[in-house]
Amino acid sequence: MLSTMQDVPLTVTRILHHGMTIHGKSQVTTWTGEPEPHRRTFAEIGARATQLANALRDELGIDGDQRVATLMWNNAEHVEAYLAIPSMGAVLHTLNLRLPPEQLAWIVNHADDKAVIVNGSLLPLLVPLLPHLPSIEHVVVAGPGDRSALAGITPRVHEYEELIAGRSTTFDWPELDERQAAAMCYTSGTTGDPKGVVYSHRSIYLHSMQVNMTESMGLTDKDTTLVVVPQFHVNAWGLPHATFMSGVNMLMPDRFLQPAPLADMIERERPTHAAAVPTIWQGLLAEVTANPRDLTSMANVTIGGAACPPSLMEAYDKLGVRLCHAWGMTETSPLGTMAHPPAGLSDEEQWPYRVTQGRFPAGVEARLVGPGGEHLPWDGESAGELEVRGPWIAAAYYGGSDGEHLRPEDKFSEDGWLKTGDVGVISTDGFLTLTDRAKDVIKSGGEWISSVELENALMAHPDVAEAAVVAVPDEKWGERPLATVVLKEGAADVDYEALKAFLAESGIAKWQLPERWSVIPAVPKTSVGKFDKKVIRKQYAEGELDVTQL
Ligand code: AMP
Repeated sequence: MLSTMQDVPLTVTRILHHGMTIHGKSQVTTWTGEPEPHRRTFAEIGARATQLANALRDELGIDGDQRVATLMWNNAEHVEAYLAIPSMGAVLHTLNLRLPPEQLAWIVNHADDKAVIVNGSLLPLLVPLLPHLPSIEHVVVAGPGDRSALAGITPRVHEYEELIAGRSTTFDWPELDERQAAAMCYTSGTTGDPKGVVYSHRSIYLHSMQVNMTESMGLTDKDTTLVVVPQFHVNAWGLPHATFMSGVNMLMPDRFLQPAPLADMIERERPTHAAAVPTIWQGLLAEVTANPRDLTSMANVTIGGAACPPSLMEAYDKLGVRLCHAWGMTETSPLGTMAHPPAGLSDEEQWPYRVTQGRFPAGVEARLVGPGGEHLPWDGESAGELEVRGPWIAAAYYGGSDGEHLRPEDKFSEDGWLKTGDVGVISTDGFLTLTDRAKDVIKSGGEWISSVELENALMAHPDVAEAAVVAVPDEKWGERPLATVVLKEGAADVDYEALKAFLAESGIAKWQLPERWSVIPAVPKTSVGKFDKKVIRKQYAEGELDVTQL
């Protein structure tokens, strides 16, 4: 029997319409570096998004599922593009402004982007690439920045404000199939070509509902979220859509992502929530330790994208800011788990849950797969590769304009689950603890050593600012850990024996203790702020590190 329920497609258009009407008074505040930030209501954003859709259709000729790229910071205009482009049936393609230029060009060509909306401050990045981007017919420039580099370029140039000014604030939005593409984001691809993940209207809608649930970020119209995670990194973890669904105010840092302006905007605008990767929180901590600011408005902070060291969580607890650990991937929209402890536990009992990656929501099914392909029990001990499936999890990668979508064997199981490449254990009550990336785990004499466990233990040492541990070849054991550490400013000279003893005291098994050590000025980071361990492995292989062997 079929149900008697209405079959209303779950689309971004509906999120747009809901936000601009029901939550018309909620605001997007964009930091400008001027005394006053810029403020725009959801009603205004909605009207301007509609004008943008009209301009893209009438002036730029965007039609069907053509791709419109954005090369932008987090700001109000980027939110407008987020809502306008999918709602008109086209596909929003967010470009990661930290990628090397050749990769950016590859991605634009692969996606066959017809137009790009770019922040003026990013023109020095875009303009030299344009001769290599034959599909781009239009460049739309928004916000401050020198325009002189645009003289003589081939694509047509439009000023964002002039383009939308005076256009109609109504649009004949098409009734879309909810399974159609709404947005795409390429993975940061540490090996091989980047891979395009294409989100559907349905996946975005369902993911947004999950983001707002109490067991996830728990946001309502009483909240203001500081969206530090870039809009080019997995749709800013779904926040621009989720906020429009529930009227959550947004505080957008634009290009002011350094610790000092972030601390200023938190003290002044008092966001109740924020979302960012650990590197950002490390930087902010150093800043407020040196120049104290009031961060206490942030009762609820989402930290993820890389493992959150427990010492970082403790440091923020002391500042009255509670970090909640989350795990996800570009392929998972990204919300995969969040670490809210189960009900009824004391602070002390909550701690072991808070430092896990968290629990799966109803929309994400999980399983652990062992080296021989066997499914492992959820006993908190059996470590295997995490596989997931659900309505906001990728089933394939974009195959290009004329190609079929790609389902590489190392990324998708035969029965359609996503192979995450993350290795971990799941407790009997469903909490995930990641021990490593499959490619980062250290295989020493047939046993596995978790690089993340060593890093977390090292980063709890008072002299250590950051630590990255990688596998290096070893004649006897196959692989052994190399510990690279960044010392805190003003820390005494490094004493490797003492660091090793500190690891042993914090419970690391003797056979797992690194014998190779190196102090480095900074841990190399990927384009989205994660530890870039392949760079350290390469530096070691090429003899560029000053390594002490104990
Ligand atoms: P990306 O697609 O660039 O967001 O990268 C996704 C990967 O980041 C995951 O597969 C994990 O390896 C890593 N990651 C994300 N969140 C966490 C977390 N909370 N703890 C450890 N690793 C994480």
